[in-house]
Amino acid sequence: MISTPLLHLAYLVAAVLFIMGLRQLSSPRTAPKGNATSALGMLIAVAATLLAFEIIQPVDLLLGVGAGILIGGVLAWRIQMTAMPQLVALFNGLGGAASALVVLAELTRPKATPLESSSLVAAGVGILIGNITLMGSLMAFGKLQGVIPTGAIRSRILPWLNLMLLLACLGFTGALVGAPDSMVIMLTLVGLSLVLGVTGVMSIGGADMPVMIAFLNALSGLAASATGFALHNEVLIVAGSLVGASGIILTNIMCKGMNRSLGNVMFAGVGVADGSGGALAAPGGGTVKQASPEEAALMLVESELVIVVPGYGLAVAQAQHAVRQLADELEKKGVEVVYAIHPVAGRMPGHMNVLLAEADVDYEKLKDLDEANPLFPQADTVLVIGANDVVNPVARTDTSSPIYGMPILDADKAASCLVLKRSMRPGFSGIENPLYSSDRTMMVFGDAKDTLLELIAQVKQN
Ligand code: NDP
Repeated sequence: MISTPLLHLAYLVAAVLFIMGLRQLSSPRTAPKGNATSALGMLIAVAATLLAFEIIQPVDLLLGVGAGILIGGVLAWRIQMTAMPQLVALFNGLGGAASALVVLAELTRPKATPLESSSLVAAGVGILIGNITLMGSLMAFGKLQGVIPTGAIRSRILPWLNLMLLLACLGFTGALVGAPDSMVIMLTLVGLSLVLGVTGVMSIGGADMPVMIAFLNALSGLAASATGFALHNEVLIVAGSLVGASGIILTNIMCKGMNRSLGNVMFAGVGVADGSGGALAAPGGGTVKQASPEEAALMLVESELVIVVPGYGLAVAQAQHAVRQLADELEKKGVEVVYAIHPVAGRMPGHMNVLLAEADVDYEKLKDLDEANPLFPQADTVLVIGANDVVNPVARTDTSSPIYGMPILDADKAASCLVLKRSMRPGFSGIENPLYSSDRTMMVFGDAKDTLLELIAQVKQN
């Protein structure tokens, strides 16, 4: 139905669209267009392949596309913003599973000429990485959804078990080259790599899962790339490499944002404790000052510059629309409001940007760490909403702290600070935050959304 030159042209167009899509994805303003561009590239690549090799009829293709649009559309429509990491985990897992299944189909289908050794190695790697991605992503999904215990499992044996499983998988990949028709070798490789996916992700704490998801995303790309090498399919190699490279870059950005290495995220078992401090106990015995919504509203209205620092608690409380309404009310009174976004605030890369974009907050008002930190000394009030670790000053001073060296937002350098959270409980890292007992800080206890709604009402009255 499609000639070979036309197929290659379609692959070229698809590859260009993937690259353009990635470029557009690098800014929140053009990201939706980037999604559409990349999806169009994928549609062209899949349709051209299926039609060129006469795998299915055009009608079946349309039915498949329709079913995909329906399932994807319903998922996207129904998903809560707080559940985005879980959805991404599932998508990665499906990508890994697809790669492993395509390779298995290629290995088991009757062929006139046997696969070359290089293709067999690529096929083994495709099964290995694809299955690790599938099971690792399902584990990540389970932990983020709370279906399986979210804490990190610390065990001395686990890293060794993982190493042995990895070596065994590589051994069976080598054996596959010698005996490509052996079902025993193939199935053992499938089984061991599935187990490795589970044990590899088991030891990682729930809040570190976003880093793992970025890494699994990279793995799903590498699995697709390996499948491309096994099948000699250029567009799979290109698409897989782009996903693999961007996933690795993202993983690196997030690790830097936490001042941790990927090895530390994978093996240190951070996030074991749930971190349940006393209800209103101040860290180090200092005094915690509490403000009522009336007092807090007054502080905000009398400010010239307010910097909002959103964190995971904003996402939990679904308070993104309320914070925008509060900013609107303050701006009506001549107060300048900007938002300081930490690269790992929340529980997924870009979590705060996505939430605030959903509430139509102007991108120009979102300041990243480097832009925001010089602004804090000029700010009259910092409004910390459900953020904890990303504003904890011990990261600058206490060499024994687990977050020492993590770049933080300098909320403690502003003239005053209002913190909206429910209690004195610590955040993800489980450590106390001296910002809360600072002379300049007032705590407003309660669910972030409820407090923001009260603040809006109070600001309107002022
Ligand atoms: P934290 O987890 O440090 O703190 C969140 C705070 O939100 C808690 O102290 C909690 O206090 C408060 N909170 C929870 N629910 C509500 C609510 N309904 N209303 C008001 N407050 C609420 O979050 P941060 O965003 O400051 O830091 C992110 C952490 O996650 C960092 O340690 C980072 O390294 C880690 N991380 C982030 C990743 C990412 O991709 N973004 C990846 C991996 C790790 P209380 O219970 O008292 O209300």
